[in-house]
Amino acid sequence: MKPAPFAYHAPTSTEAAVALLAEHGGQARLLAGGQALMPLMASRRVRSRHLIDLNRVPELSRTDGRRIGALTRLRELESHPVIPLLAQAAALAGPVQVRNRATLGGALAHADPAAELPAVAVALGARVELHGSAVRSLPVEDFLLGPHRTAMDATEVLAAVEFPPTDAAFAIEKVSTRPGLALAGAVVVLGGDGCRIVLFGVAPTPVRPAEAEAALARGASPDEVADAAVAVLDPHTPRRLLARGAVARAVATVRDKVRHG
Ligand SMILES: Cc1cc2nc3c(=O)[nH]c(=O)nc-3n(C[C@H](O)[C@H](O)[C@H](O)COP(=O)(O)OP(=O)(O)OC[C@H]3O[C@@H](n4cnc5c(N)ncnc54)[C@H](O)[C@@H]3O)c2cc1C
Repeated sequence: MKPAPFAYHAPTSTEAAVALLAEHGGQARLLAGGQALMPLMASRRVRSRHLIDLNRVPELSRTDGRRIGALTRLRELESHPVIPLLAQAAALAGPVQVRNRATLGGALAHADPAAELPAVAVALGARVELHGSAVRSLPVEDFLLGPHRTAMDATEVLAAVEFPPTDAAFAIEKVSTRPGLALAGAVVVLGGDGCRIVLFGVAPTPVRPAEAEAALARGASPDEVADAAVAVLDPHTPRRLLARGAVARAVATVRDKVRHG
């Protein structure tokens, strides 16, 4: 199938992209890597009268220390020296042809519950920078509202993601049958200013199980932490056991890293 007809716009600044969104309101969609949007448009599950291509906006690809432009490709993130957990997660996010095009901003804006990058952004306490009639910054945890639903207005562009400094140890465990989205997964971060556990693929948004984080902080065993982590999930959640295993393995890996420096 082919997409429904649309007008194509290629702004060269974030400001111009925001102005186009304001002009066309709910009738417009932003295009980044197109790895999620193009198949949806081609199958007409998404129809949009206006397509605003962000690929000619240079400032959206700019990285400044821990502030990463939304249009940065996952393939580039894989070698990001400053945020190793982000680099590791980007390398897991689908086949290389997808990672060559898909962007950090697209991965967060698409808000797929089975995607690892939103979970990693939550685990690292990242914030999104949104440009609309004003510029605002939100913790990723508050930005993600549900499957393919975010706190971004229809007239906003996600311009960058800011990651706070950390020297914490980390581990990510993803369970999938082939290169692609997770059946279940867990991110564990330990050290620095505390610890965080984030489950993905098993709830509408990445989940932080508070009891499990407390258990990790007091030194409970990987199995105890994993039991506490999946206790927050709906008891009928499929793949609960996969998530439990992912947490236990990630906790064991993180502890090992902490022990051996
Ligand atoms: C075969 C295959 C395997 C995959 N495997 C994985 C995987 O293992 N893990 C994983 O996480 N993902 C996976 N993906 C998903 C892929 O990585 C997503 O398509 C990608 O994360 C979305 O980024 P994008 O730049 O392509 O966004 P697009 O497809 O261009 O856009 C996605 C959505 O985000 C919006 N958007 C994009 N950029 C912005 C912005 N800057 N501001 C506001 N809104 C914006 C768009 O309007 C659209 O609604 C896979 C995809 C394919 C096709």
